[in-house]
Amino acid sequence: MTVPTITLNNGVLMPALGYGVFQTPPDETRTAVTTALETGYRHIDTAAAYGNEREVGEAVAASGLARDDVFVETKVWISDYGYDETLHAFDKSAGKLGLEQLDLLILHQALPGEFDLTIAAYRALERLLADGRVRAIGVSNFMPEHLGRLLEATSVVPAVNQVEVHPYFRQPEVLAADAEHGIVTQAWSPIGGITFYRDGSHGSTLQDPTIGGIAAAHDRTPAQVMLRWHLQQGRSAIPKSVTPARIAENLDVLGFELGPDELAAIDALDTGVRGGPEPEAITREAFGREIPEA
Ligand code: NDP
Repeated sequence: MTVPTITLNNGVLMPALGYGVFQTPPDETRTAVTTALETGYRHIDTAAAYGNEREVGEAVAASGLARDDVFVETKVWISDYGYDETLHAFDKSAGKLGLEQLDLLILHQALPGEFDLTIAAYRALERLLADGRVRAIGVSNFMPEHLGRLLEATSVVPAVNQVEVHPYFRQPEVLAADAEHGIVTQAWSPIGGITFYRDGSHGSTLQDPTIGGIAAAHDRTPAQVMLRWHLQQGRSAIPKSVTPARIAENLDVLGFELGPDELAAIDALDTGVRGGPEPEAITREAFGREIPEA
């Protein structure tokens, strides 16, 4: 199965559908990523803060796949923001992943109260890009205001903004800002994981009757319908599962097409209720943690 690719704003090709490993314990990560690569995923999304970059790298190395055939994305944690600190964060991540060059390196969060530090971190990403250490750079959880401040102060437009997007939290204003600047929106919790693995004020997207009805009409599962919705609207999506049958299910989303009314019906499920932390409230005091050396 060949996953469609998205062309980033610097011409780099990225498989639209990737495989996420947030909350995958390090001792399960190698097996999970190996299963994903065997199933056909060619894009892995990890982060320094997930504590499993080393195991992702081991699985990629053991896969026997050519380096060019696997797109590896990781994120710099806020504790490593600052120009020199972020350059060193690259060394830590690349060292753990066992890779000379990363395909996509993004800032995990904006630090709204310390935006100078966020900009310094991004300037380090620009340096790494210029030096060929990374093929593309981007951000995560950046709201339009953060993007505006970043774009004013830096010269490389982020290739990707990875944000919470699922049928219950669509963030149309972020999607519009990304589109305006030619930034690919990459959906985290793309099947609404955060709506069911964390207590929230709303139920699970997997149980939603509208999504269930569309899934039944196509003889597909709710997860497949949600992933199809992202892909047809031009987003990248990075579903996570450690369950082999679900890993396969989430990749098997190419053989059907949702109609405009179905896409609109899913759009209309937006509750405006965020599952993840409020981006404006991210501080190093509250969320900082030391990222170990490679
Ligand atoms: P997802 O929407 O991918 O949902 C994951 C959850 O859904 C897990 O509990 C998984 O269980 C379950 N699941 C997976 N596939 C299916 C299926 N087909 N049917 C039923 N249940 C299923 O949420 P995540 O929050 O994990 O987001 C995905 C990725 O996004 C992360 O792994 C990470 O890479 C990234 N992310 C980034 C963030 C950021 O701040 N930048 C924040 C959060 C996530 P199981 O594994 O047991 O099968």
